[in-house]
Amino acid sequence: MILNKEMECMSRDELKALQSERLKWQVKRMYDKVKIFKERMDEKGLKPEDIHGIEDLAKLPFSYKKDLRDYYPYGLFAVPMTDIVRVHASSGTTGKQIVVGYTKNDLKIWSECMGRQLAAAGGTSDDFVQVCYGYGLFTGGLGAHDGATYIGATVIPASTGNTARQIQTMVDFGSTILCSTPSYAMYLAEEIKKQGLVDKIKLKAAICGAEPWTEEMRHQIEEKLHIKAYDIYGLTEIVGPGVAYECSEQSGMHLNEDHFLLEIIDPETLEPVKGDVKMGELVFTTLDREGAPLIRYRTRDLGFAKVGTCKCGRTFIRLSKPMGRSDDMLIIRGVNVFPSQIEEVLLKNPEGITANYQIVVDRVNNNDTLDVFVEMDPDLFADDMASIERLQKQLVEKLRSVLGIGAKVTLVNPNTIQRSEGKAKRVIDKRKLI
Ligand code: ADP
Ligand code: ZN
Repeated sequence: MILNKEMECMSRDELKALQSERLKWQVKRMYDKVKIFKERMDEKGLKPEDIHGIEDLAKLPFSYKKDLRDYYPYGLFAVPMTDIVRVHASSGTTGKQIVVGYTKNDLKIWSECMGRQLAAAGGTSDDFVQVCYGYGLFTGGLGAHDGATYIGATVIPASTGNTARQIQTMVDFGSTILCSTPSYAMYLAEEIKKQGLVDKIKLKAAICGAEPWTEEMRHQIEEKLHIKAYDIYGLTEIVGPGVAYECSEQSGMHLNEDHFLLEIIDPETLEPVKGDVKMGELVFTTLDREGAPLIRYRTRDLGFAKVGTCKCGRTFIRLSKPMGRSDDMLIIRGVNVFPSQIEEVLLKNPEGITANYQIVVDRVNNNDTLDVFVEMDPDLFADDMASIERLQKQLVEKLRSVLGIGAKVTLVNPNTIQRSEGKAKRVIDKRKLI
């Protein structure tokens, strides 16, 4: 279902006009209210009147995660604290936490963005939405919660932890939609299958985001639970989950373009990446955010966008699965490696292994090493050593052909790699720890 047809299916011309109006409004108020923004505009000799519409976006200064750290906690807010009704902070995956603030209206917009995702996944007021994202400063829990409330569904605010109880709740309360990280959805799926409860659950959809995951992982979650799994993208700085959401076509995530304006740039030259389906860094402008607005925010996330009306009828552009952040990219022996490439190889070869893995990068005698630890499934574990070694060898070859460098693969005993209830910690780069 489409929650807000007027916006989600708006013609591109109308959308451009709306974005232009909102951009002018945002630039003007930020110039008056956010010191660093005014300073950067002044440095460029720019006045708010120089921005006539979105065609002038590229004239405006970029903003960075560092700004949120330098002006921590409230220095970038564009309203007095009396108007801020909630704060959230990033989960701190890449360093010191950053803080963002929301006005009442910001929360309303965010809830609707999340509501659009739930509706796109078939959610209505008849649904029971089990939210297994963490509640707290992290945006996942409360974001999904407010979105479910927005569409009038029954929220089950389970939060993270205690998997046995999560499953019992899912069965007893009749949860129909699960919101969690993909890695936790996968873990739940394994447990539910193992306990023979697949027929006892009423789940029809899972909404998974907050970390990179592959198509292979999606297939496995869908297959194990007999549901549809939707990808949702967001980041604390922009609003939280719900910046972009997937429809039933599952071919990219519709960006909520009435609120967020996207540019895709080459992170080296900072020039726009030309053409459809070209990878670059995602840069967002929050068009109507009041509390903690950002202009041309460089996310470090790498992805591309597809334009053109989707079969679902929505006109919003579709974002590819972000490859992960440019900060996540590992440079191993001079070769760029994304953890998602490794996951894809592993999950494409599921015979004998599970989706639980960990990547360890180290430097020994000035040479980078790449170790991939993967849990075996119990059947292989019970098998002879020769079959285990054969599979290890096959995986090494497959990884070499995809990554272009050698990796060591070790198949480890079932249930020995730590599970995560929030974002999975897949990579340990020991070179950074020195
Ligand atoms: P932190 O920066 O501490 O991890 P956030 O919770 O704000 O805090 O994380 C946002 C980041 O999570 C995004 O910038 C992106 O890298 C990643 N992310 C969020 N959703 C997805 C998704 N669906 N696919 C891939 N990566 C995602
Ligand atoms: Zn669509």
